[in-house]
Amino acid sequence: MSEHYFVEEHDHLSTTPTPTPTPTLPHPTGDAQRLESEFLAIISHELRSPLAAIKGYAATLRRHGQKLGRAEREEYLRAIDEASDRLDLLISRLMTLSHLEAGTLTPRLAPVDMVHLTREAIASAQYRWGMGIAGKGKHVFAGPEHDNVPPALADLRLQRDVLDIVLENAVKYSPDGGVIRVELAPGDTMLTIRVYDSGIGIPPEHLHRIFDRFHQVDQRLTREVEGAGLGLAICKRSMELQGGAIWAESEPGGGSVFTMTLPLAKPHDEWMI
Ligand code: ADP
Repeated sequence: MSEHYFVEEHDHLSTTPTPTPTPTLPHPTGDAQRLESEFLAIISHELRSPLAAIKGYAATLRRHGQKLGRAEREEYLRAIDEASDRLDLLISRLMTLSHLEAGTLTPRLAPVDMVHLTREAIASAQYRWGMGIAGKGKHVFAGPEHDNVPPALADLRLQRDVLDIVLENAVKYSPDGGVIRVELAPGDTMLTIRVYDSGIGIPPEHLHRIFDRFHQVDQRLTREVEGAGLGLAICKRSMELQGGAIWAESEPGGGSVFTMTLPLAKPHDEWMI
């Protein structure tokens, strides 16, 4: 895009110069207050950057649209579309987490074909970030290998969200060219789902805390990857609500494995959806 137009429009939107500086958080006077301050800093940052992009591109199109070529206009519209999707996703994750925490989300458990669900989630991740998208994305996805996996008892939508979040993280925290592999392993009563990545890994002291809301290993607001620290908190509560669990194993620099478990469906459970 044209730097000239964007900078001109972007500047009057925001009182902060670019790049956005890390806000100074008030001194914590207790855990709750510290969490609240962190929440406000992270959420306002994550809301503001797509909003600034939408405002900047829309204002540019309105004022200079006539002078722009067709390709440039398309590019600006695509950027507005993507930034709107980011806002939509953030708001829906905030709502999901608040429902999960308030206990107002009742899971609709039914037998689910996890091979199918996992392949759908991979196909969608591949479309967004994989080799499939005109050679643009650079992550490679693999698995699950076997078709004959018994159904799990799960809430289809909750479990799809969990898979989307774990796959998205595998991409976000891996370098281009990283391989992401999904494995399904049925046991006697539980189904185990593992997602392997070859990314930056997680330091041991963070391994449990990443499932707390807003906990991010890299807490600088200037970090390159987007995120509000909501995803894994949603995953943990969603897995527990379905009678399963999620945990991570990792080596800094050596990739991570996220393991999820779900109860296997019993013959009398309602038929597969
Ligand atoms: P975020 O929006 O920050 O990605 P999440 O709740 O999804 O929030 O994850 C919390 C934190 O856990 C991330 O900020 C990151 O530090 C770490 N993390 C999650 N998944 C991975 C992964 N696959 N590899 C390395 N670090 C990860």
